[in-house]
Amino acid sequence: MENSTNHHASHQTIPCVGKRLTERMNQFSPTNERMADYLITGGTGYVPDDGLTGAQLFANGDGLTYNDFLILPGFIDFTADEVDLTSALTRKITLKAPLVSSPMDTVTEAQMAIGMALCGGVGVIHHNCSPEFQANEVRKVKKYEQGFILDPVVMAPSHTVADVVEAKKRFGFSGIPITENGHMGEKLIGLVTQRDIDFLTKDDNNIPLENVMTTYEDLVVAHCGVTLKEANSILQKSKKGKLPIVNDKGELVSLIARTDTKKNREFPLASKDERKQLLVGAAISTHEEDRKRLDALVAAGVDFVVLDSSQGNSIYQIEFIKHAKNLYPELQVIGGNVVTAAQAKNLIDAGADGLRIGMGSGSICITQEIMAVGRPQGTAVYKVAEYARRFGVPVIADGGIQSVGHIVKALSLGASTVMMGSMLAGTTEAPGEYFFADGVRLKKYRGMGSLDAMEKHRSSQSRYFSESDKLKVAQGVSGSIVDKGSIQKFVPYLIAGIKHGCQDIGARTLSHVRSMMYSGELKFERRTTSAQIEGGVHSLHNYEKRLY
Ligand code: IMP
Repeated sequence: MENSTNHHASHQTIPCVGKRLTERMNQFSPTNERMADYLITGGTGYVPDDGLTGAQLFANGDGLTYNDFLILPGFIDFTADEVDLTSALTRKITLKAPLVSSPMDTVTEAQMAIGMALCGGVGVIHHNCSPEFQANEVRKVKKYEQGFILDPVVMAPSHTVADVVEAKKRFGFSGIPITENGHMGEKLIGLVTQRDIDFLTKDDNNIPLENVMTTYEDLVVAHCGVTLKEANSILQKSKKGKLPIVNDKGELVSLIARTDTKKNREFPLASKDERKQLLVGAAISTHEEDRKRLDALVAAGVDFVVLDSSQGNSIYQIEFIKHAKNLYPELQVIGGNVVTAAQAKNLIDAGADGLRIGMGSGSICITQEIMAVGRPQGTAVYKVAEYARRFGVPVIADGGIQSVGHIVKALSLGASTVMMGSMLAGTTEAPGEYFFADGVRLKKYRGMGSLDAMEKHRSSQSRYFSESDKLKVAQGVSGSIVDKGSIQKFVPYLIAGIKHGCQDIGARTLSHVRSMMYSGELKFERRTTSAQIEGGVHSLHNYEKRLY
């Protein structure tokens, strides 16, 4: 072990001892024999050196996962509330919460990205769709104003009462704007509310909405540019449940719901640009045709792009990074995925502003099983972060996060942020509808390298295959995940949990966690299999695991 030799040298040369401890040790004579064997803490006496530094933890060459080690607790002289989780996503983008939602078609579209940004994190819109669809999702996030619904359920005059009944069942509301062809951005011609259909019976199910709706002339509407405050007061005065917002041409641009305005609250951590618009990212492949997608995303106002490759160390990615940075120097470009310093080097040299780490650790991932390549995530994060920090390039620990503890571990190994798929896929904000199976409320969650996802749109294939591949070999599976409720509750839980982890470590900020790790002050310990069993719930007849 590195520090057992150092113990017998002058204490000033002990590299694994943190600054605070080294200062204390300097009060003693370096020749003191007991001093050579023991480190001193807290002024209470001598205590043996304990635990492993980050370098020692990963020194023996085994690949470690988050479950293979623990962090030893430090000293607490502050409350968990005081912990500051500000962290860098890229060279130029900083977040107040180190949380990123993954670019997967069952995780991040506009609604998730808006929710994540409001809570202090950020979302990356997936690219398993046309460039137009993706750019539009980006636009929705950039144009988001709290309280204004930009993509409400809209119907056409030809839809029927049965459609409204069905929408009420699925979404829980019935105030539905009616436009010419049932799309946003078209001329508003009416609104159907519960009151319009209250007295209808099952026999009336086929009546077209144009016969029951309140028509435009009788509607209370507000015009574009109205502030939330003004809109709220219009809603209050008119005693209506929904207020459509239209532009000069009478086209529907958004909607305000009375129930939402009641729920509206402040988001002090919200991730915003200098124009006070929410931050958002978008994934993109390195294929030649995605240069056009890049242009569309930039035109929509995207703040950063994530080059979405499962093995990012390729000539295609290097060229794409150079192209993107050349054309849009202000745009932040995140490269990846990588799991070794050698891979990271090429992308940093090409100009990447951030890196995404992970290969094979994702919950839906079968890359390690099928391709025989990858790396356990703990080791991957430590090795890449340790290299990238020398160039000021922040790294995202992507995949394999199963709990708040895993997030704290990823951050303690040098990651600046974590990216999550399965943790967020069962939330209200994830794309897709809930369904029931065996009495459990679920949402679909699938790998972007699953055949299911690759069959939906060819962009997903680009992450896992090159143009010339004739036969698709799946690298992911398709499954489902239990309902987690809204991220408006879940993400604050994650944030509170990370703060408690930092408090136990004895670090008031995330950058302090990292500096403790690199100075050697932060100590880790390997976990045997039985230690892992001991660390879980055991010896109970039954129990309920409620987390928040
Ligand atoms: P999770 O948070 O453990 O569910 O992992 C999510 C991460 O898995 C994503 O951010 C991707 O990096 C990765 N991923 C997504 N789809 C696939 C796939 O089909 N195969 C392998 N990895 C995937």
